[in-house]
Amino acid sequence: MLTIAFMLVGLSPSMAADPPNILFIMSDDHTAQAVGAYATLLKDLDPTPTIDSLAADGIVFENAFCTNAICTPSRACILTGKYNHVNGVVDLVGRIEPKDQTLPLLMREAGYQTAMIGKWHLKAEPNFDYYKVLPGQGKYYNTEFRVQGDKPWPKNVVAHKGEHSSDAITDSTLNWFKTKRDKTKPFFVCHQYKAPHDYFENAPRYQSYLKNTKIPEPATLYDTPNTWGSIATRGHQDELLAHIGTSIGKRNPRRSYAVDLYDRFPEELPSGYNVNELSEEETTRYAYQAYLKKYLRCVKGVDDNLSRLFHYLKAHDLYDNTLIIYTGDQGFWLGEKDFQDKRWAYDESQRMPFIVRYPEAIPAGQRSDALVENIDYPVLMLDYAGIEIPEGIQGRSFRSVCETGKEPAGWKQGVYYRYWMHMAHHDNPGEMAYRTKTYKLIYFYGCDYEGANQTPPGWELYDLVRDPDELVNVYDDPVYAKVRDDLKEAFAKKRKDIGDDGSHFPKCEAVVQEFWDYDEADRAKAINLSRKFRLQREAFLNRK
Ligand code: CA
Repeated sequence: MLTIAFMLVGLSPSMAADPPNILFIMSDDHTAQAVGAYATLLKDLDPTPTIDSLAADGIVFENAFCTNAICTPSRACILTGKYNHVNGVVDLVGRIEPKDQTLPLLMREAGYQTAMIGKWHLKAEPNFDYYKVLPGQGKYYNTEFRVQGDKPWPKNVVAHKGEHSSDAITDSTLNWFKTKRDKTKPFFVCHQYKAPHDYFENAPRYQSYLKNTKIPEPATLYDTPNTWGSIATRGHQDELLAHIGTSIGKRNPRRSYAVDLYDRFPEELPSGYNVNELSEEETTRYAYQAYLKKYLRCVKGVDDNLSRLFHYLKAHDLYDNTLIIYTGDQGFWLGEKDFQDKRWAYDESQRMPFIVRYPEAIPAGQRSDALVENIDYPVLMLDYAGIEIPEGIQGRSFRSVCETGKEPAGWKQGVYYRYWMHMAHHDNPGEMAYRTKTYKLIYFYGCDYEGANQTPPGWELYDLVRDPDELVNVYDDPVYAKVRDDLKEAFAKKRKDIGDDGSHFPKCEAVVQEFWDYDEADRAKAINLSRKFRLQREAFLNRK
C-alpha cells in the first residue's frame, strides 16, 4: 500500500521537475559595454555573437551590479552570498576557506556533481568534486592549472603548453564533460575565463581581428566636462586630476596606456613613428586603439570558445535542460572619462553583464531593470537547485524576475557598493555608494583601513535618468537637496541593515563618520587634504 502511494506521488504531474543542470560562466573583467546584448558604442563591431544568442533565448539584466569592482571580492560574494565585510574578502589578499564555500557545498549536499574550471583567485583549495584552476591571476600562455592529486593543495600542477588560456580552459571543461561527468546526477559547473583581464594577450589567430578597424571612441576620452566629479576625484581646483584614477592618455603620469603604448604595443603605432612627434591627443588615440583592440581580441577568443562549448552541449542534449548564466566578475573602463581598469563606483565598472538562459522556465527575449547584486547570484542558482537558503546568506533569489519579469514583493530598491583598497594599483580612493534605478550617491571617504593616507573626502550625486553617463555631480545643487538627504538616509540605513557598521575597521569608520554630513568645516579640511596629497604625489614622482 505504502509502495503504491509512493509510486502515485512519484507519477503526479504536479511533482517538481528534476533540478536543472547549472552552468555558471564568468569571464574576468568582461564589461557590459563589450557584450553585444548591452553594447551601444561598440554594437556594430558585433563583439559577442555567441553570448548574444544566450541573451536572445533568455533574459538580460540591465541593472546587475557587483558590490566591489575587483576580482577576488566579487568571486567571494558569488561563492558565499554575503557582502565582503561579512565574508571577509574585502581586497585581493582575501581567501575563502573550503568550509565557507557555501555555494558548491550546498549544491553537493543536494545531489549535484560540482566542478570549478578556470580562474579561481580565492587562494584556498576549491571545495568542488572536481577542480582545475589557475594559480592566482594565471598566465595567458602555457597556462598552468592546480588540480587534485597525490600532493596537498596547491602542489599538483598540470600545464597546457603552447595553448592560450581561453582555449585551455574550454578544453578542460569539455574534457570534464567527456570523461568525468556522472550522468546519474545533475551538474553544477563553473567555467571561468582569465580573459579579458589586463594586460590583454590574445591568441595569435586573433592578431588580424579588427586590425584595420577604427574602434569608435567614447565622447569623454579626450575631455570630461568639469561638471563631473568632486574634490575627491579632481582635487581642489582640479589639482589632483593627474593623480586620481589611472588613464588611457597621459593624464596620470604614474600609470597609463599612453606610457605602456611604446613598450607593450609597438605594433599598434604608425610605422616609422617618432615618439616626440605624436601630440598628446594622438598618443591617447593610439593608446585607446591598442587597449580596445587587445581587449576585444580577448573577448572574441572567449566568445568563439563558448561556441565550441555550446556546440558540445547541443550535440549531447544538454543545452536546453541546463540553466546557463553568463557574467563578468565586474565591469571595466573602455576609455570613458579617459579611465582604464575598474574599481570605481561609476556604472562602467559597477555594472556586470548578467544573462540567464533556461528555456524550460525562462521566456526568450526579455530584459529586466530589476536591481540585482552579485550576492544574489548564488541564491538564484540554489533556488533553481531546490535548496533551502540557510540563515546568514544576505542575497535573495530573483527567480521570479527571470520567469515572469516581475520583482518579488519587497524587492530591493537600492544596491550597495564599497571599494576598500584606497589608492592601491590604480589610484582610486576608498569609496562607498548607494545606487537606485534613478540615482547614484557616491561617498569618497578617502582613507585606508587605518584611517590613514587620506585623500580629500567628497560626495557625488548623479541623476541617472537625465544623466546616465554620470557627467554632472548635483550633490550641491539646491534642486536636488531633498533627493540627496533622502538618499543619504537610505544609504545609512542600508549600511546598518547589511552590517557594514564600522566595526570591521573602526579607524576607517571614524573618517567615514567625520565627513558624512560634509559641513563647512569638513569642506575646509578636504581642501587642506587635497593640497597635502598633491604635494606628496609630486614629491614621489620627482623622486622616481
Ligand atoms: Ca576581474
